Amino acid sequence: MITVLSGGTGTPKLLQGLKEIVDPADLTIIVNTLENDYFSGVYVSADIDTVLYTLSDMINDETWYGVKGDTFITHERLNELGCGELLRIGDVDRATKIQKTQLMDKYGLKKACEIQARNMGIESEIIPMSEEKSDIKIVTDIGELEFHDFLIKHKSEPEVLDIKFSQVKPADGVVDAIKNSEAVIIGPSNPITSILPILSLKGIREALKDTYVIAVSPIIGSDAVSGPASKFMKALDIEVSSVGVASLYKDFLDNIVIDDKDSNLKSQLNQIVNKVTITNTIMNNLGVKKNLAQIIKDSIP
Ligand code: GDP
Repeated sequence: MITVLSGGTGTPKLLQGLKEIVDPADLTIIVNTLENDYFSGVYVSADIDTVLYTLSDMINDETWYGVKGDTFITHERLNELGCGELLRIGDVDRATKIQKTQLMDKYGLKKACEIQARNMGIESEIIPMSEEKSDIKIVTDIGELEFHDFLIKHKSEPEVLDIKFSQVKPADGVVDAIKNSEAVIIGPSNPITSILPILSLKGIREALKDTYVIAVSPIIGSDAVSGPASKFMKALDIEVSSVGVASLYKDFLDNIVIDDKDSNLKSQLNQIVNKVTITNTIMNNLGVKKNLAQIIKDSIP
């Protein structure tokens, strides 16, 4: 069994490669839930849905949000009615979210994800990091903002001063998945708002110490490939580089995969992590994704 810790963009790209070279039934994906919230009456778990759509080949892999070729009739009508829906939720995507909301009310989020994964023909296990409601605030120069307000309404533009998030309990099976895995892959997701929330769960760091852990850096040079990760790292005084990423994981990390462009960081990284793997990590086609997945798989002792 291989367990992957995931957010919503970089790691799903890697999953597209992994599922081609590993039996999907041998994959468990633990997914960030920090930014989950209700919008227009439906529960939105963006990262979980991205993983569901990625593993069922439905993902809109231009935006890494929602379903490929989706329509937006409901969203547009809601706006005509004056609802001002913040998230642009597609019609097919909304159906997933409506069902998840209903299943969650009945069985909780973990079981809801399990049912939806099976209904979508997914053989991997997708576990939300927590079933508890969490709260994240981005402290900026224009005040304290909700995560989606910062990201969408303010287009990640305000200066970030701090990031605050609530402590939640891990969902059943999260710690055990790590303990029972031959390897854990930390995908190249936002280290601050996608990976740190998972690492902050009780028992996770300890479990990772006893498992082979390989991480792919989402930072190349001194910037994130996409999204606000570098802004968030700066706000927390973490060096925006693969070295900064490795420093967050250093108490349990065995191997870090960095991009060819960062090969000059190898000796510095070797002071914090045993093994440094250098390859092309810009996953702009399936060949790169599969190659990266194969390198990771081959590294498992
Ligand atoms: P958010 O979009 O920043 O909220 O966070 P996600 O958890 O969805 O992950 C986004 C992260 O994925 C960013 O920090 C990117 O740098 C990283 N990322 C996206 N595409 C790639 C890629 O092709 N290669 C690498 N190495 N990182 C990537």
